[in-house]
Amino acid sequence: MTSVCTYCGVGCEIEAIVENNRVTKIKPVKNGISSGGELCIKGRYGFEFLNNRLKEHLISYEFIKKNAEKMPFELQVRLANLYEWDERFYKAPLNLALDIAAWKLKYIIEKHSPKSIAAIGGARTNIESAWLFQHFARNILKTPHVDNCARVCHSPSLSGLKMSIGEGASSVDFDSIFDAETIFVIGSNTTEAHPMVASRIIKAKKRGAKLIVVDVREIPLMKFADISVILPFESNLLFLNAIAKEMIERDLIDKDFINKRCVKFDEYKELMLNDKYDKRFFEKLKGFEKIKEQIEEIAKLITKKTIFAWGLGVTEHIDGTEAVNAISNLAMMSGNFAKGAGVLPLRGQNNVQGACDVGCLPYFLPDYIRPDEEHIGLMTPDVIDEILNGNIKAIINMGEDILHIHPNQNKIHKAFEELEFLMVMEVMPNEITKRADIVFAVKSAYEKSGVYVNAERRLHLSTPLVKSSLPDDWEVVKELANRFGSTLKYEKSEDVFEDCKKEVGRFRGASYERLKQKPLQWPIKEDGSDSPVLHLEKFSTSDGKGHFHYHKYHLRGEVEDILKGKKRWWLNTGRALPQYNNSAQTKPSEKLTSKYDDDILLVNEIHKNEISQKVKLRSKYGESAELKVKFTDKVRPYTLYTTFHFAKNKINYLFGDEADHKVKTARFKAVEVEIINL
Ligand code: SF4
Repeated sequence: MTSVCTYCGVGCEIEAIVENNRVTKIKPVKNGISSGGELCIKGRYGFEFLNNRLKEHLISYEFIKKNAEKMPFELQVRLANLYEWDERFYKAPLNLALDIAAWKLKYIIEKHSPKSIAAIGGARTNIESAWLFQHFARNILKTPHVDNCARVCHSPSLSGLKMSIGEGASSVDFDSIFDAETIFVIGSNTTEAHPMVASRIIKAKKRGAKLIVVDVREIPLMKFADISVILPFESNLLFLNAIAKEMIERDLIDKDFINKRCVKFDEYKELMLNDKYDKRFFEKLKGFEKIKEQIEEIAKLITKKTIFAWGLGVTEHIDGTEAVNAISNLAMMSGNFAKGAGVLPLRGQNNVQGACDVGCLPYFLPDYIRPDEEHIGLMTPDVIDEILNGNIKAIINMGEDILHIHPNQNKIHKAFEELEFLMVMEVMPNEITKRADIVFAVKSAYEKSGVYVNAERRLHLSTPLVKSSLPDDWEVVKELANRFGSTLKYEKSEDVFEDCKKEVGRFRGASYERLKQKPLQWPIKEDGSDSPVLHLEKFSTSDGKGHFHYHKYHLRGEVEDILKGKKRWWLNTGRALPQYNNSAQTKPSEKLTSKYDDDILLVNEIHKNEISQKVKLRSKYGESAELKVKFTDKVRPYTLYTTFHFAKNKINYLFGDEADHKVKTARFKAVEVEIINL
């Protein structure tokens, strides 16, 4: 049985040994294209959730109490088919749950308006479900409010790259890493978050590539780096601009490429040359003086064939889009797109690229077609505000645990109290299922067929490892749509894929038949040929040119503290290798949980005498639960690091509404906190 790992955006091919419809072992597919023939521990051991998953469709007692009398008589009679399941929910037959959900959605549309409903999700399931979900929201419910969890991760990569090069995705495949002379990694703890990409980077380094690693703390990949840069919090744009200025001043730019392939360089160059935040600025930052020399070295190294890879350490800031523009500026100035190198945003979820490709975004229809102004929907943070303003009354949610993974949880929990209806499609019990009115238990990735798009734009056809009688997400959506008068006749996921392709030109030449032979990278032509490398001859912008964008760095946060000699605590968060996101699917695995079973707060060892072993953190937005402390030299004094995998620790209560200026991705990588010793 072969399938695709359900966790990170690497999208490793997996093979399972199955006994009596139970997975007993997962191993890598020999010659797996994206996996490189290896798997990390999550891929190998993260399957025990299949034995602990949600198996029943649920309706809350509270919902029935509030709504039963308003239902048509025929539905009221059928409520006798609900059975008590636990202290909060009845279990319901699928058709009854569908009929009640459809009735409630119609009721809300009639009482309020179609636009009082928001549809959120799609990055954890297949593209068939993601495409049908946004189709249902936009064309059947008639609401423009569609979003997915790219909002809390790589939306700035999409917006920044679209502005610069016209396509918000990787320009290369993972194996291009082996051909690069320089690999520049910024804001990505690659060994923990994208292990099989890290494995390629380490191999490439051993074969002679130069490796530059940039982060705010010492991360494992730095062990292999030629240049390790430790930056102050929130200084990515400052640092990236300083490299650009150094390249211009030292004439390290590829003039031929810039003249032929790019526009707006002269304007950019002038602004950059007048920018006071250059390499010399780092000499004023106590503890960071050596960055000046590092910038000089880096500016030379990236003139070689370079891949620029980044993660959420770049995007989860107020200037995430600007920093992504700054990375593309470097890739264009060094002429790297013509060398078959360029940009590799390391996208997080197994299908977050696919969910964006098929239009699970408020400002893009399938295939990144921009809707008319009046059909642009709300981004998730605006949905939350509009719930509180009384304008959004219902959320339909497909696999996104908003009540754990989004920021400003005090505000979100308050908003969800106000919702009139919350419908959830989920594999595992989690924070959002606890609050839902109706929960549809749906197939996991290992129980169904479907296509997933990984971080190198590769479409994999995943097939079921085990059988399940539960519906796939798209089947729930189809049944709801048909209760609204549609006549969708899809019988299998392939039927949905064929319809999706009609709207998503980049998938055109893909088919289940072809994907069974080999996973393919979009754009896929009619004849089935695919595109491992993009932008070799021209960019995907409307004029085919690469566009330079200058953004000024604004002094703030830790950099300002250093200049003023101020001491404040700054917290940064991220992921640990053994767990995934809200840990709902990884926690049931003993092997994984034995390696990491709690979010630990890392504190520099110089603070040993002032910080106790157990603390709480407090910010102006909220408070964490009690956290265990580990003293280490891997984080700098007055900077803290922790993961956010376990809901009980309430880490995301510490973050507020500060977010990327353009696309509202939360500033998860820096928040000022106070430490409360316990
Ligand atoms: S690298 Fe990512 S996709 Fe591959 S096995 Fe690990 S978690 Fe799964």
